[in-house]
Amino acid sequence: MKIALIPGDGIGPDIIEEAVKVINAVGEKKQISFEFITYLAGGAAIDQTGIPLPEATLEGCKKSDAVLLGAVGGPQWDTLPGHLRPERGLLGLRKGMELFANLRPALLFPQLKAASTLKEEVIGDGIDIMVVRELTGGIYFGDRGRNEEGTRSAYDMETYSEPEIDRITRIGFEIAKKRKKKLTSIDKANILETSRLWREVAERVAKEYPEVELHHMYVDNCAMQLIRNPHQFDVMVTSNMFGDILSDEASMLTGSLGMLPSASLGSGKLGMYEPIHGSAPDIAGQDIANPIAAILSAAMMFRYSFEMEAEAVMIEEAVARVLEAGYRTKDIMEKDMKLVGTKEMGSLIAEEIKKM
Ligand code: NAD
Repeated sequence: MKIALIPGDGIGPDIIEEAVKVINAVGEKKQISFEFITYLAGGAAIDQTGIPLPEATLEGCKKSDAVLLGAVGGPQWDTLPGHLRPERGLLGLRKGMELFANLRPALLFPQLKAASTLKEEVIGDGIDIMVVRELTGGIYFGDRGRNEEGTRSAYDMETYSEPEIDRITRIGFEIAKKRKKKLTSIDKANILETSRLWREVAERVAKEYPEVELHHMYVDNCAMQLIRNPHQFDVMVTSNMFGDILSDEASMLTGSLGMLPSASLGSGKLGMYEPIHGSAPDIAGQDIANPIAAILSAAMMFRYSFEMEAEAVMIEEAVARVLEAGYRTKDIMEKDMKLVGTKEMGSLIAEEIKKM
């Protein structure tokens, strides 16, 4: 397995090192060898090459089986013009690898219930929702502009083609099939024509997945239902902008930014895996960042790019056991728990895998 590593900026290198430790522990346990190749992107690439996404990075990533990314960005690059900013590296990677589906699990481990902003009776045994967001179409990529004559106005155009909706809803069904067989498609079909087409296509694709129950929900209702009763959801599929907002809302229900992974997938097996948090420059290089989001991103890599479900579960189970044993990084620290640093957290999880 060839894994492209992009540590990036800030805490990126700290957490990627721990994810590699855990991947190697799985490799040892299961007798699989991995080839890691490190590439530059974001601020680190700007400093060394003058641009946020060097050609060699994109080419190398395309030739890999999966890409594992830390985070990019930091205040030292904030004054650069838009096309040279670190985030352009990320967008360029997603676009260059044609990653049109963004998967963001909102997973609250029962051991961390206190971190959630929701009441305990609403959380129950924890939260486990998967948000599937369309990533390369819709209003974020549509025609936009301004009219400066007379009363000023501006516009952004939302367009979705049938094939774009087909491929993203299909990913939603495929994931739902492997989970609780329930898919909620989120739209605004009472107002938007793109949403009406979205529903028609979702209904058509649903015929190929008779084992999956398909529900439709308006986005405004969904934003409310997520907080009222998150357990009614298992897998959600939605457009780029609705997904952007709802995935942030869902993930924040878990209350712990340092715990949440993500995957971006295309039509093949190649995917990019990264924590949802940023580069946290305030704590970079201090051995206090939580590496669990990066480690759980590696678990997603096993699940979606390598189709190695048992290994993915092994990593997730190791994380749960280390939390159960009371170990916490600073961001999730609670009374009577044992405080550990980035490296120790990574080592504890790797050791747990070796014990399995
Ligand atoms: P951030 O996620 O980096 O940090 C927000 C807060 O959460 C900070 O207090 C930080 O210390 C803390 N935090 C984040 N991850 C943590 C972890 N693993 N362990 C412990 N604490 C953690 O968001 P921000 O401060 O808004 O952005 C910082 C930089 O990151 C900016 O340059 C931004 O553009 C960039 N960013 C990058 C990505 C990405 O690479 N995908 C995403 C978001 C922000």
